[in-house]
Amino acid sequence: MSSFSNLNLAPNLARAVAEMGYESMTPIQAQAIPVVLTGQDVMGAAQTGTGKTAAFSLPLLQRLLQHENASTSPARHPVRALVLLPTRELADQVAQQVKLYAKYTQLRSAVVFGGMDMKPQTAELKKGVEVLVATPGRLLDHIEARNVVLNQVEYVVLDEADRMLDIGFLPDLQRILSHLPKQRTTLLFSATFSPEIRRLANSYLQNPITIEVARPNETASTVTQRFISVSDDDKRRALVQLLKQNEVSQAFVFVNSKLGCARLARSLERDGLKTSALHGDKSQDERLKSLDAFKRGEVQLLVCTDVAARGLDIKDVPAVFNFDIPFNAEDYVHRIGRTGRAGASGLAISFVTHSDQRLLGDVEKLIKKKTELEPIEFEDDRPRGRINTGRRHWGEDEPRDAIDVPQRVSRPTRGTPRQAPLDPFFTQPYQAPEGAQAESAEPAMPTRVSGNIKPKKKMAALFK
Ligand code: AMP
Repeated sequence: MSSFSNLNLAPNLARAVAEMGYESMTPIQAQAIPVVLTGQDVMGAAQTGTGKTAAFSLPLLQRLLQHENASTSPARHPVRALVLLPTRELADQVAQQVKLYAKYTQLRSAVVFGGMDMKPQTAELKKGVEVLVATPGRLLDHIEARNVVLNQVEYVVLDEADRMLDIGFLPDLQRILSHLPKQRTTLLFSATFSPEIRRLANSYLQNPITIEVARPNETASTVTQRFISVSDDDKRRALVQLLKQNEVSQAFVFVNSKLGCARLARSLERDGLKTSALHGDKSQDERLKSLDAFKRGEVQLLVCTDVAARGLDIKDVPAVFNFDIPFNAEDYVHRIGRTGRAGASGLAISFVTHSDQRLLGDVEKLIKKKTELEPIEFEDDRPRGRINTGRRHWGEDEPRDAIDVPQRVSRPTRGTPRQAPLDPFFTQPYQAPEGAQAESAEPAMPTRVSGNIKPKKKMAALFK
């Protein structure tokens, strides 16, 4: 076990680490901190929950201490480290950790993300901050409003880089990177090293040291994975029954679209389950409140979309339900990674409808395991749901933006400098993965269903 004391961290950083109660370094910390301290670029394969925030922020803060000063002049506190993340929650989480690590130093940090009033963020930026944590879109807003200047940035961290590309932030990232000095240290962290991530790294990192702490796409052996064959109309009922049967105290329930997320949460709430929804249409304040309530145990079910849940620092959830099979197989690994952490046993239950065969095949390929579909027998076999009142079915005319991705994936250039990489990957608009927009399609009734499930008329069980 490597101890933090071997790192010779400055006493004011070592004190903060000791207060956090960390006894030894996690594998990503043991590997990355010494490299970042030398100023080399890093390409790190590590997921949230591995301690990667400290792995990059402690060495950054250590190196920035040379600039530490007590001056009140904003000019003495230019942005020297920029940390970019895909979602507001992640940005908030990382910023909170950075603040804790830097609390005995005079280095200032701030966070900017969308969905919040720009004014308080602007006031903080204008006072000067050495470490700026941001989501790409809002940072560009501040750059364009000239609230922040990035020409003294020495370190940039692209955290959850795969996710940033997945949700279409590539053009924004390119624009932000074009504002930074070429001479800098760049750290890129990603759950997986896809070809796109490698291309991003080739374009923006210089001779990076590759650090890989867990095999990409690895699912924890402590997680029991079950796949339940169910029709769309019976999913909610199956969920309620499985929660009861497995005596699940708390769970994440993943849904592919914002609309589905809101509807399911409302419906479960009506069933008397303490439920919160977490998706991109919720205000920042609502999202943070839901999270806190879940962390305090006041909420039993957090129904969420991938974008909203990615990287949240909630560990040891007893169970994860995939109410929908994700469009992106890697999300399956991220989702079930929320349970069975730190050696605890976890339960991951996925609902599979007939139309999910292709998506399930992608998951099987990724986790290198053949799945076994279990039928479900309902305890209470009364007719369920309400008879369809003629309300439209989900998918028939659902807005195509119902999937939880940022609405704006590129923005007008307004005369800002642009890099012109030769690779067409960087010049073509981002294409969502195949099927990513089609999540709301009403699946056909399964032609091969378990013997326990009787074919029946379509009912709008979810849409009371
Ligand atoms: P991260 O992967 O950076 O989001 O970190 C996940 C959680 O692990 C956070 O709550 C950290 O406070 C915690 N953590 C980070 N490093 C350590 C460590 N060396 N020992 C124990 N906990 C840690």
